[in-house]
Amino acid sequence: SPVIVWFRQDFRQADNAALTAAVKTGAPIFCVHILDEAVKQDAARWWLGRALDLFDADLRQAGGALHVFRGPAIRVLPALVAATSARAVFWNRRYDPDGRETDTRLKALLKEGGTSVQSFPGALLHEPWTIRTRAGQPYHVFGAYWRAACQAGHERPPLPAPVKIAFATSDRSGLPPMIEAGAIGREMSATGWTDGLADMWQPDEASAQETLAQFLDGSLDDYARDRDFPARPATSGLSPFLRWGHITPAQVRQAAAAQPASGGLAKFMAELGWREFAWSVLFAQPDLASRNLRPEFDAMPWRKDPDAVRAWQRGRTGYPLVDAGMRQLWRTGWMHNRVRMVVASFLVKHLLIDWREGERWFAHTLVDYDPASNGMNWQWVAGTGVEAAPFFRMMNPLIQSRKFDPSGAYIREWVPELARLPDAQIHTPWLAGGVSGYPAPIVVHEAARERALSAWRALRGTA
Ligand code: FAD
Repeated sequence: SPVIVWFRQDFRQADNAALTAAVKTGAPIFCVHILDEAVKQDAARWWLGRALDLFDADLRQAGGALHVFRGPAIRVLPALVAATSARAVFWNRRYDPDGRETDTRLKALLKEGGTSVQSFPGALLHEPWTIRTRAGQPYHVFGAYWRAACQAGHERPPLPAPVKIAFATSDRSGLPPMIEAGAIGREMSATGWTDGLADMWQPDEASAQETLAQFLDGSLDDYARDRDFPARPATSGLSPFLRWGHITPAQVRQAAAAQPASGGLAKFMAELGWREFAWSVLFAQPDLASRNLRPEFDAMPWRKDPDAVRAWQRGRTGYPLVDAGMRQLWRTGWMHNRVRMVVASFLVKHLLIDWREGERWFAHTLVDYDPASNGMNWQWVAGTGVEAAPFFRMMNPLIQSRKFDPSGAYIREWVPELARLPDAQIHTPWLAGGVSGYPAPIVVHEAARERALSAWRALRGTA
């Protein structure tokens, strides 16, 4: 009888522990994905739809196929086990709260029915419960976390792709209805705005490897120096591939470590460390993306201002760097990290809007969205997180713009209305008398700063 490999967010053949272990059993392998209704965010749906079609194509090249069913998994997986008489199910772990709960229930349910279930470490360097303080507590500070993680060792080298996979022949009788291969991408991108994403991304394993190779060839050396400048192609662009498991951090680490020594390497590894840290924080605080980690912020007098939120979402705040970032996000599903910080700070502090509003918009539009990195970074910028900079430390969008996009190249790319302004004026078009078609600033920096500070003082009872 066959074994089932349940692919969830691990669309790769290399360094796939569940797949490798399933191949080792010698039994024919039935590859499945169960489309969960819970994936509602536009960018995630687009990525997942394409990823499923492309992974199916990869498996077909290897002589098999990916069988895609509609969820919920808690009903569908046991039905698949029954219909195929599978003797075992293999999967790589996921660590988001809902996923964990489903997997725990399924494991118990299947075992009860006599089916063996084997789960393997997911796409992290360290299981999120393993790096702990001496007192056994989760770390709250990144520096200490990453030192401990680097010392922890137990680095396992990435697994090679299986040389040959013996696929189970798929007799459809008795199976729940399947979604036709090749059609999933179309079904999952029904919303229109995501159409442009296809120009930018190819969600598969080969592209992930290519993206990594290009980065190691070109940018790693200068990573530490250039990574904050959004107009320079200095960062890896790996985030969505890591998010959806087209590549693993162990593969990235091994390839990066094999490069000639470079100043960029430690910095780059530390960024992967932030991703690890975010998952370990989410593991300890499952409501990281929805609850202020500093509860005193529950009483913050956030403003309700749908027009301002809309202007922010569509890149029409009148602040060129903020607008460039928000338009890059809307067009490509991705935004440069420095600009993510600037736009997030602008929403929370200049507009005094609850960070959760921004967290939700990012979740909806980012192809690399995950609840750990997104939740942690938003709380960090907002000052509501554990290790966060204090709320009163506000990023000045003009200073950021002049410092990190000095020639305005990034602004010119994403805000074409401003492209013809000279470098000196591109950060402050209102001083040049405004530009037709481009909005005046929706808030004045000094006034916004005063408003944010007085809200913060009121919260502390020191107004
Ligand atoms: P590189 O600079 O090449 O970094 C390599 C990898 O390290 C990234 O692919 C990513 O996996 C990881 N990484 C880098 N910076 C961070 C960070 N600050 N936190 C966690 N991991 C990091 N990243 C996400 O993957 N998903 C999110 O939902 C997300 N939301 C964010 C929200 C806000 C408000 C901010 C400020 C940052 C957010 N980030 C998020 C982190 C960061 O912006 C992206 O990971 C990075 O821009 C991805 O580009 P890259 O792959 O070229 O990064």
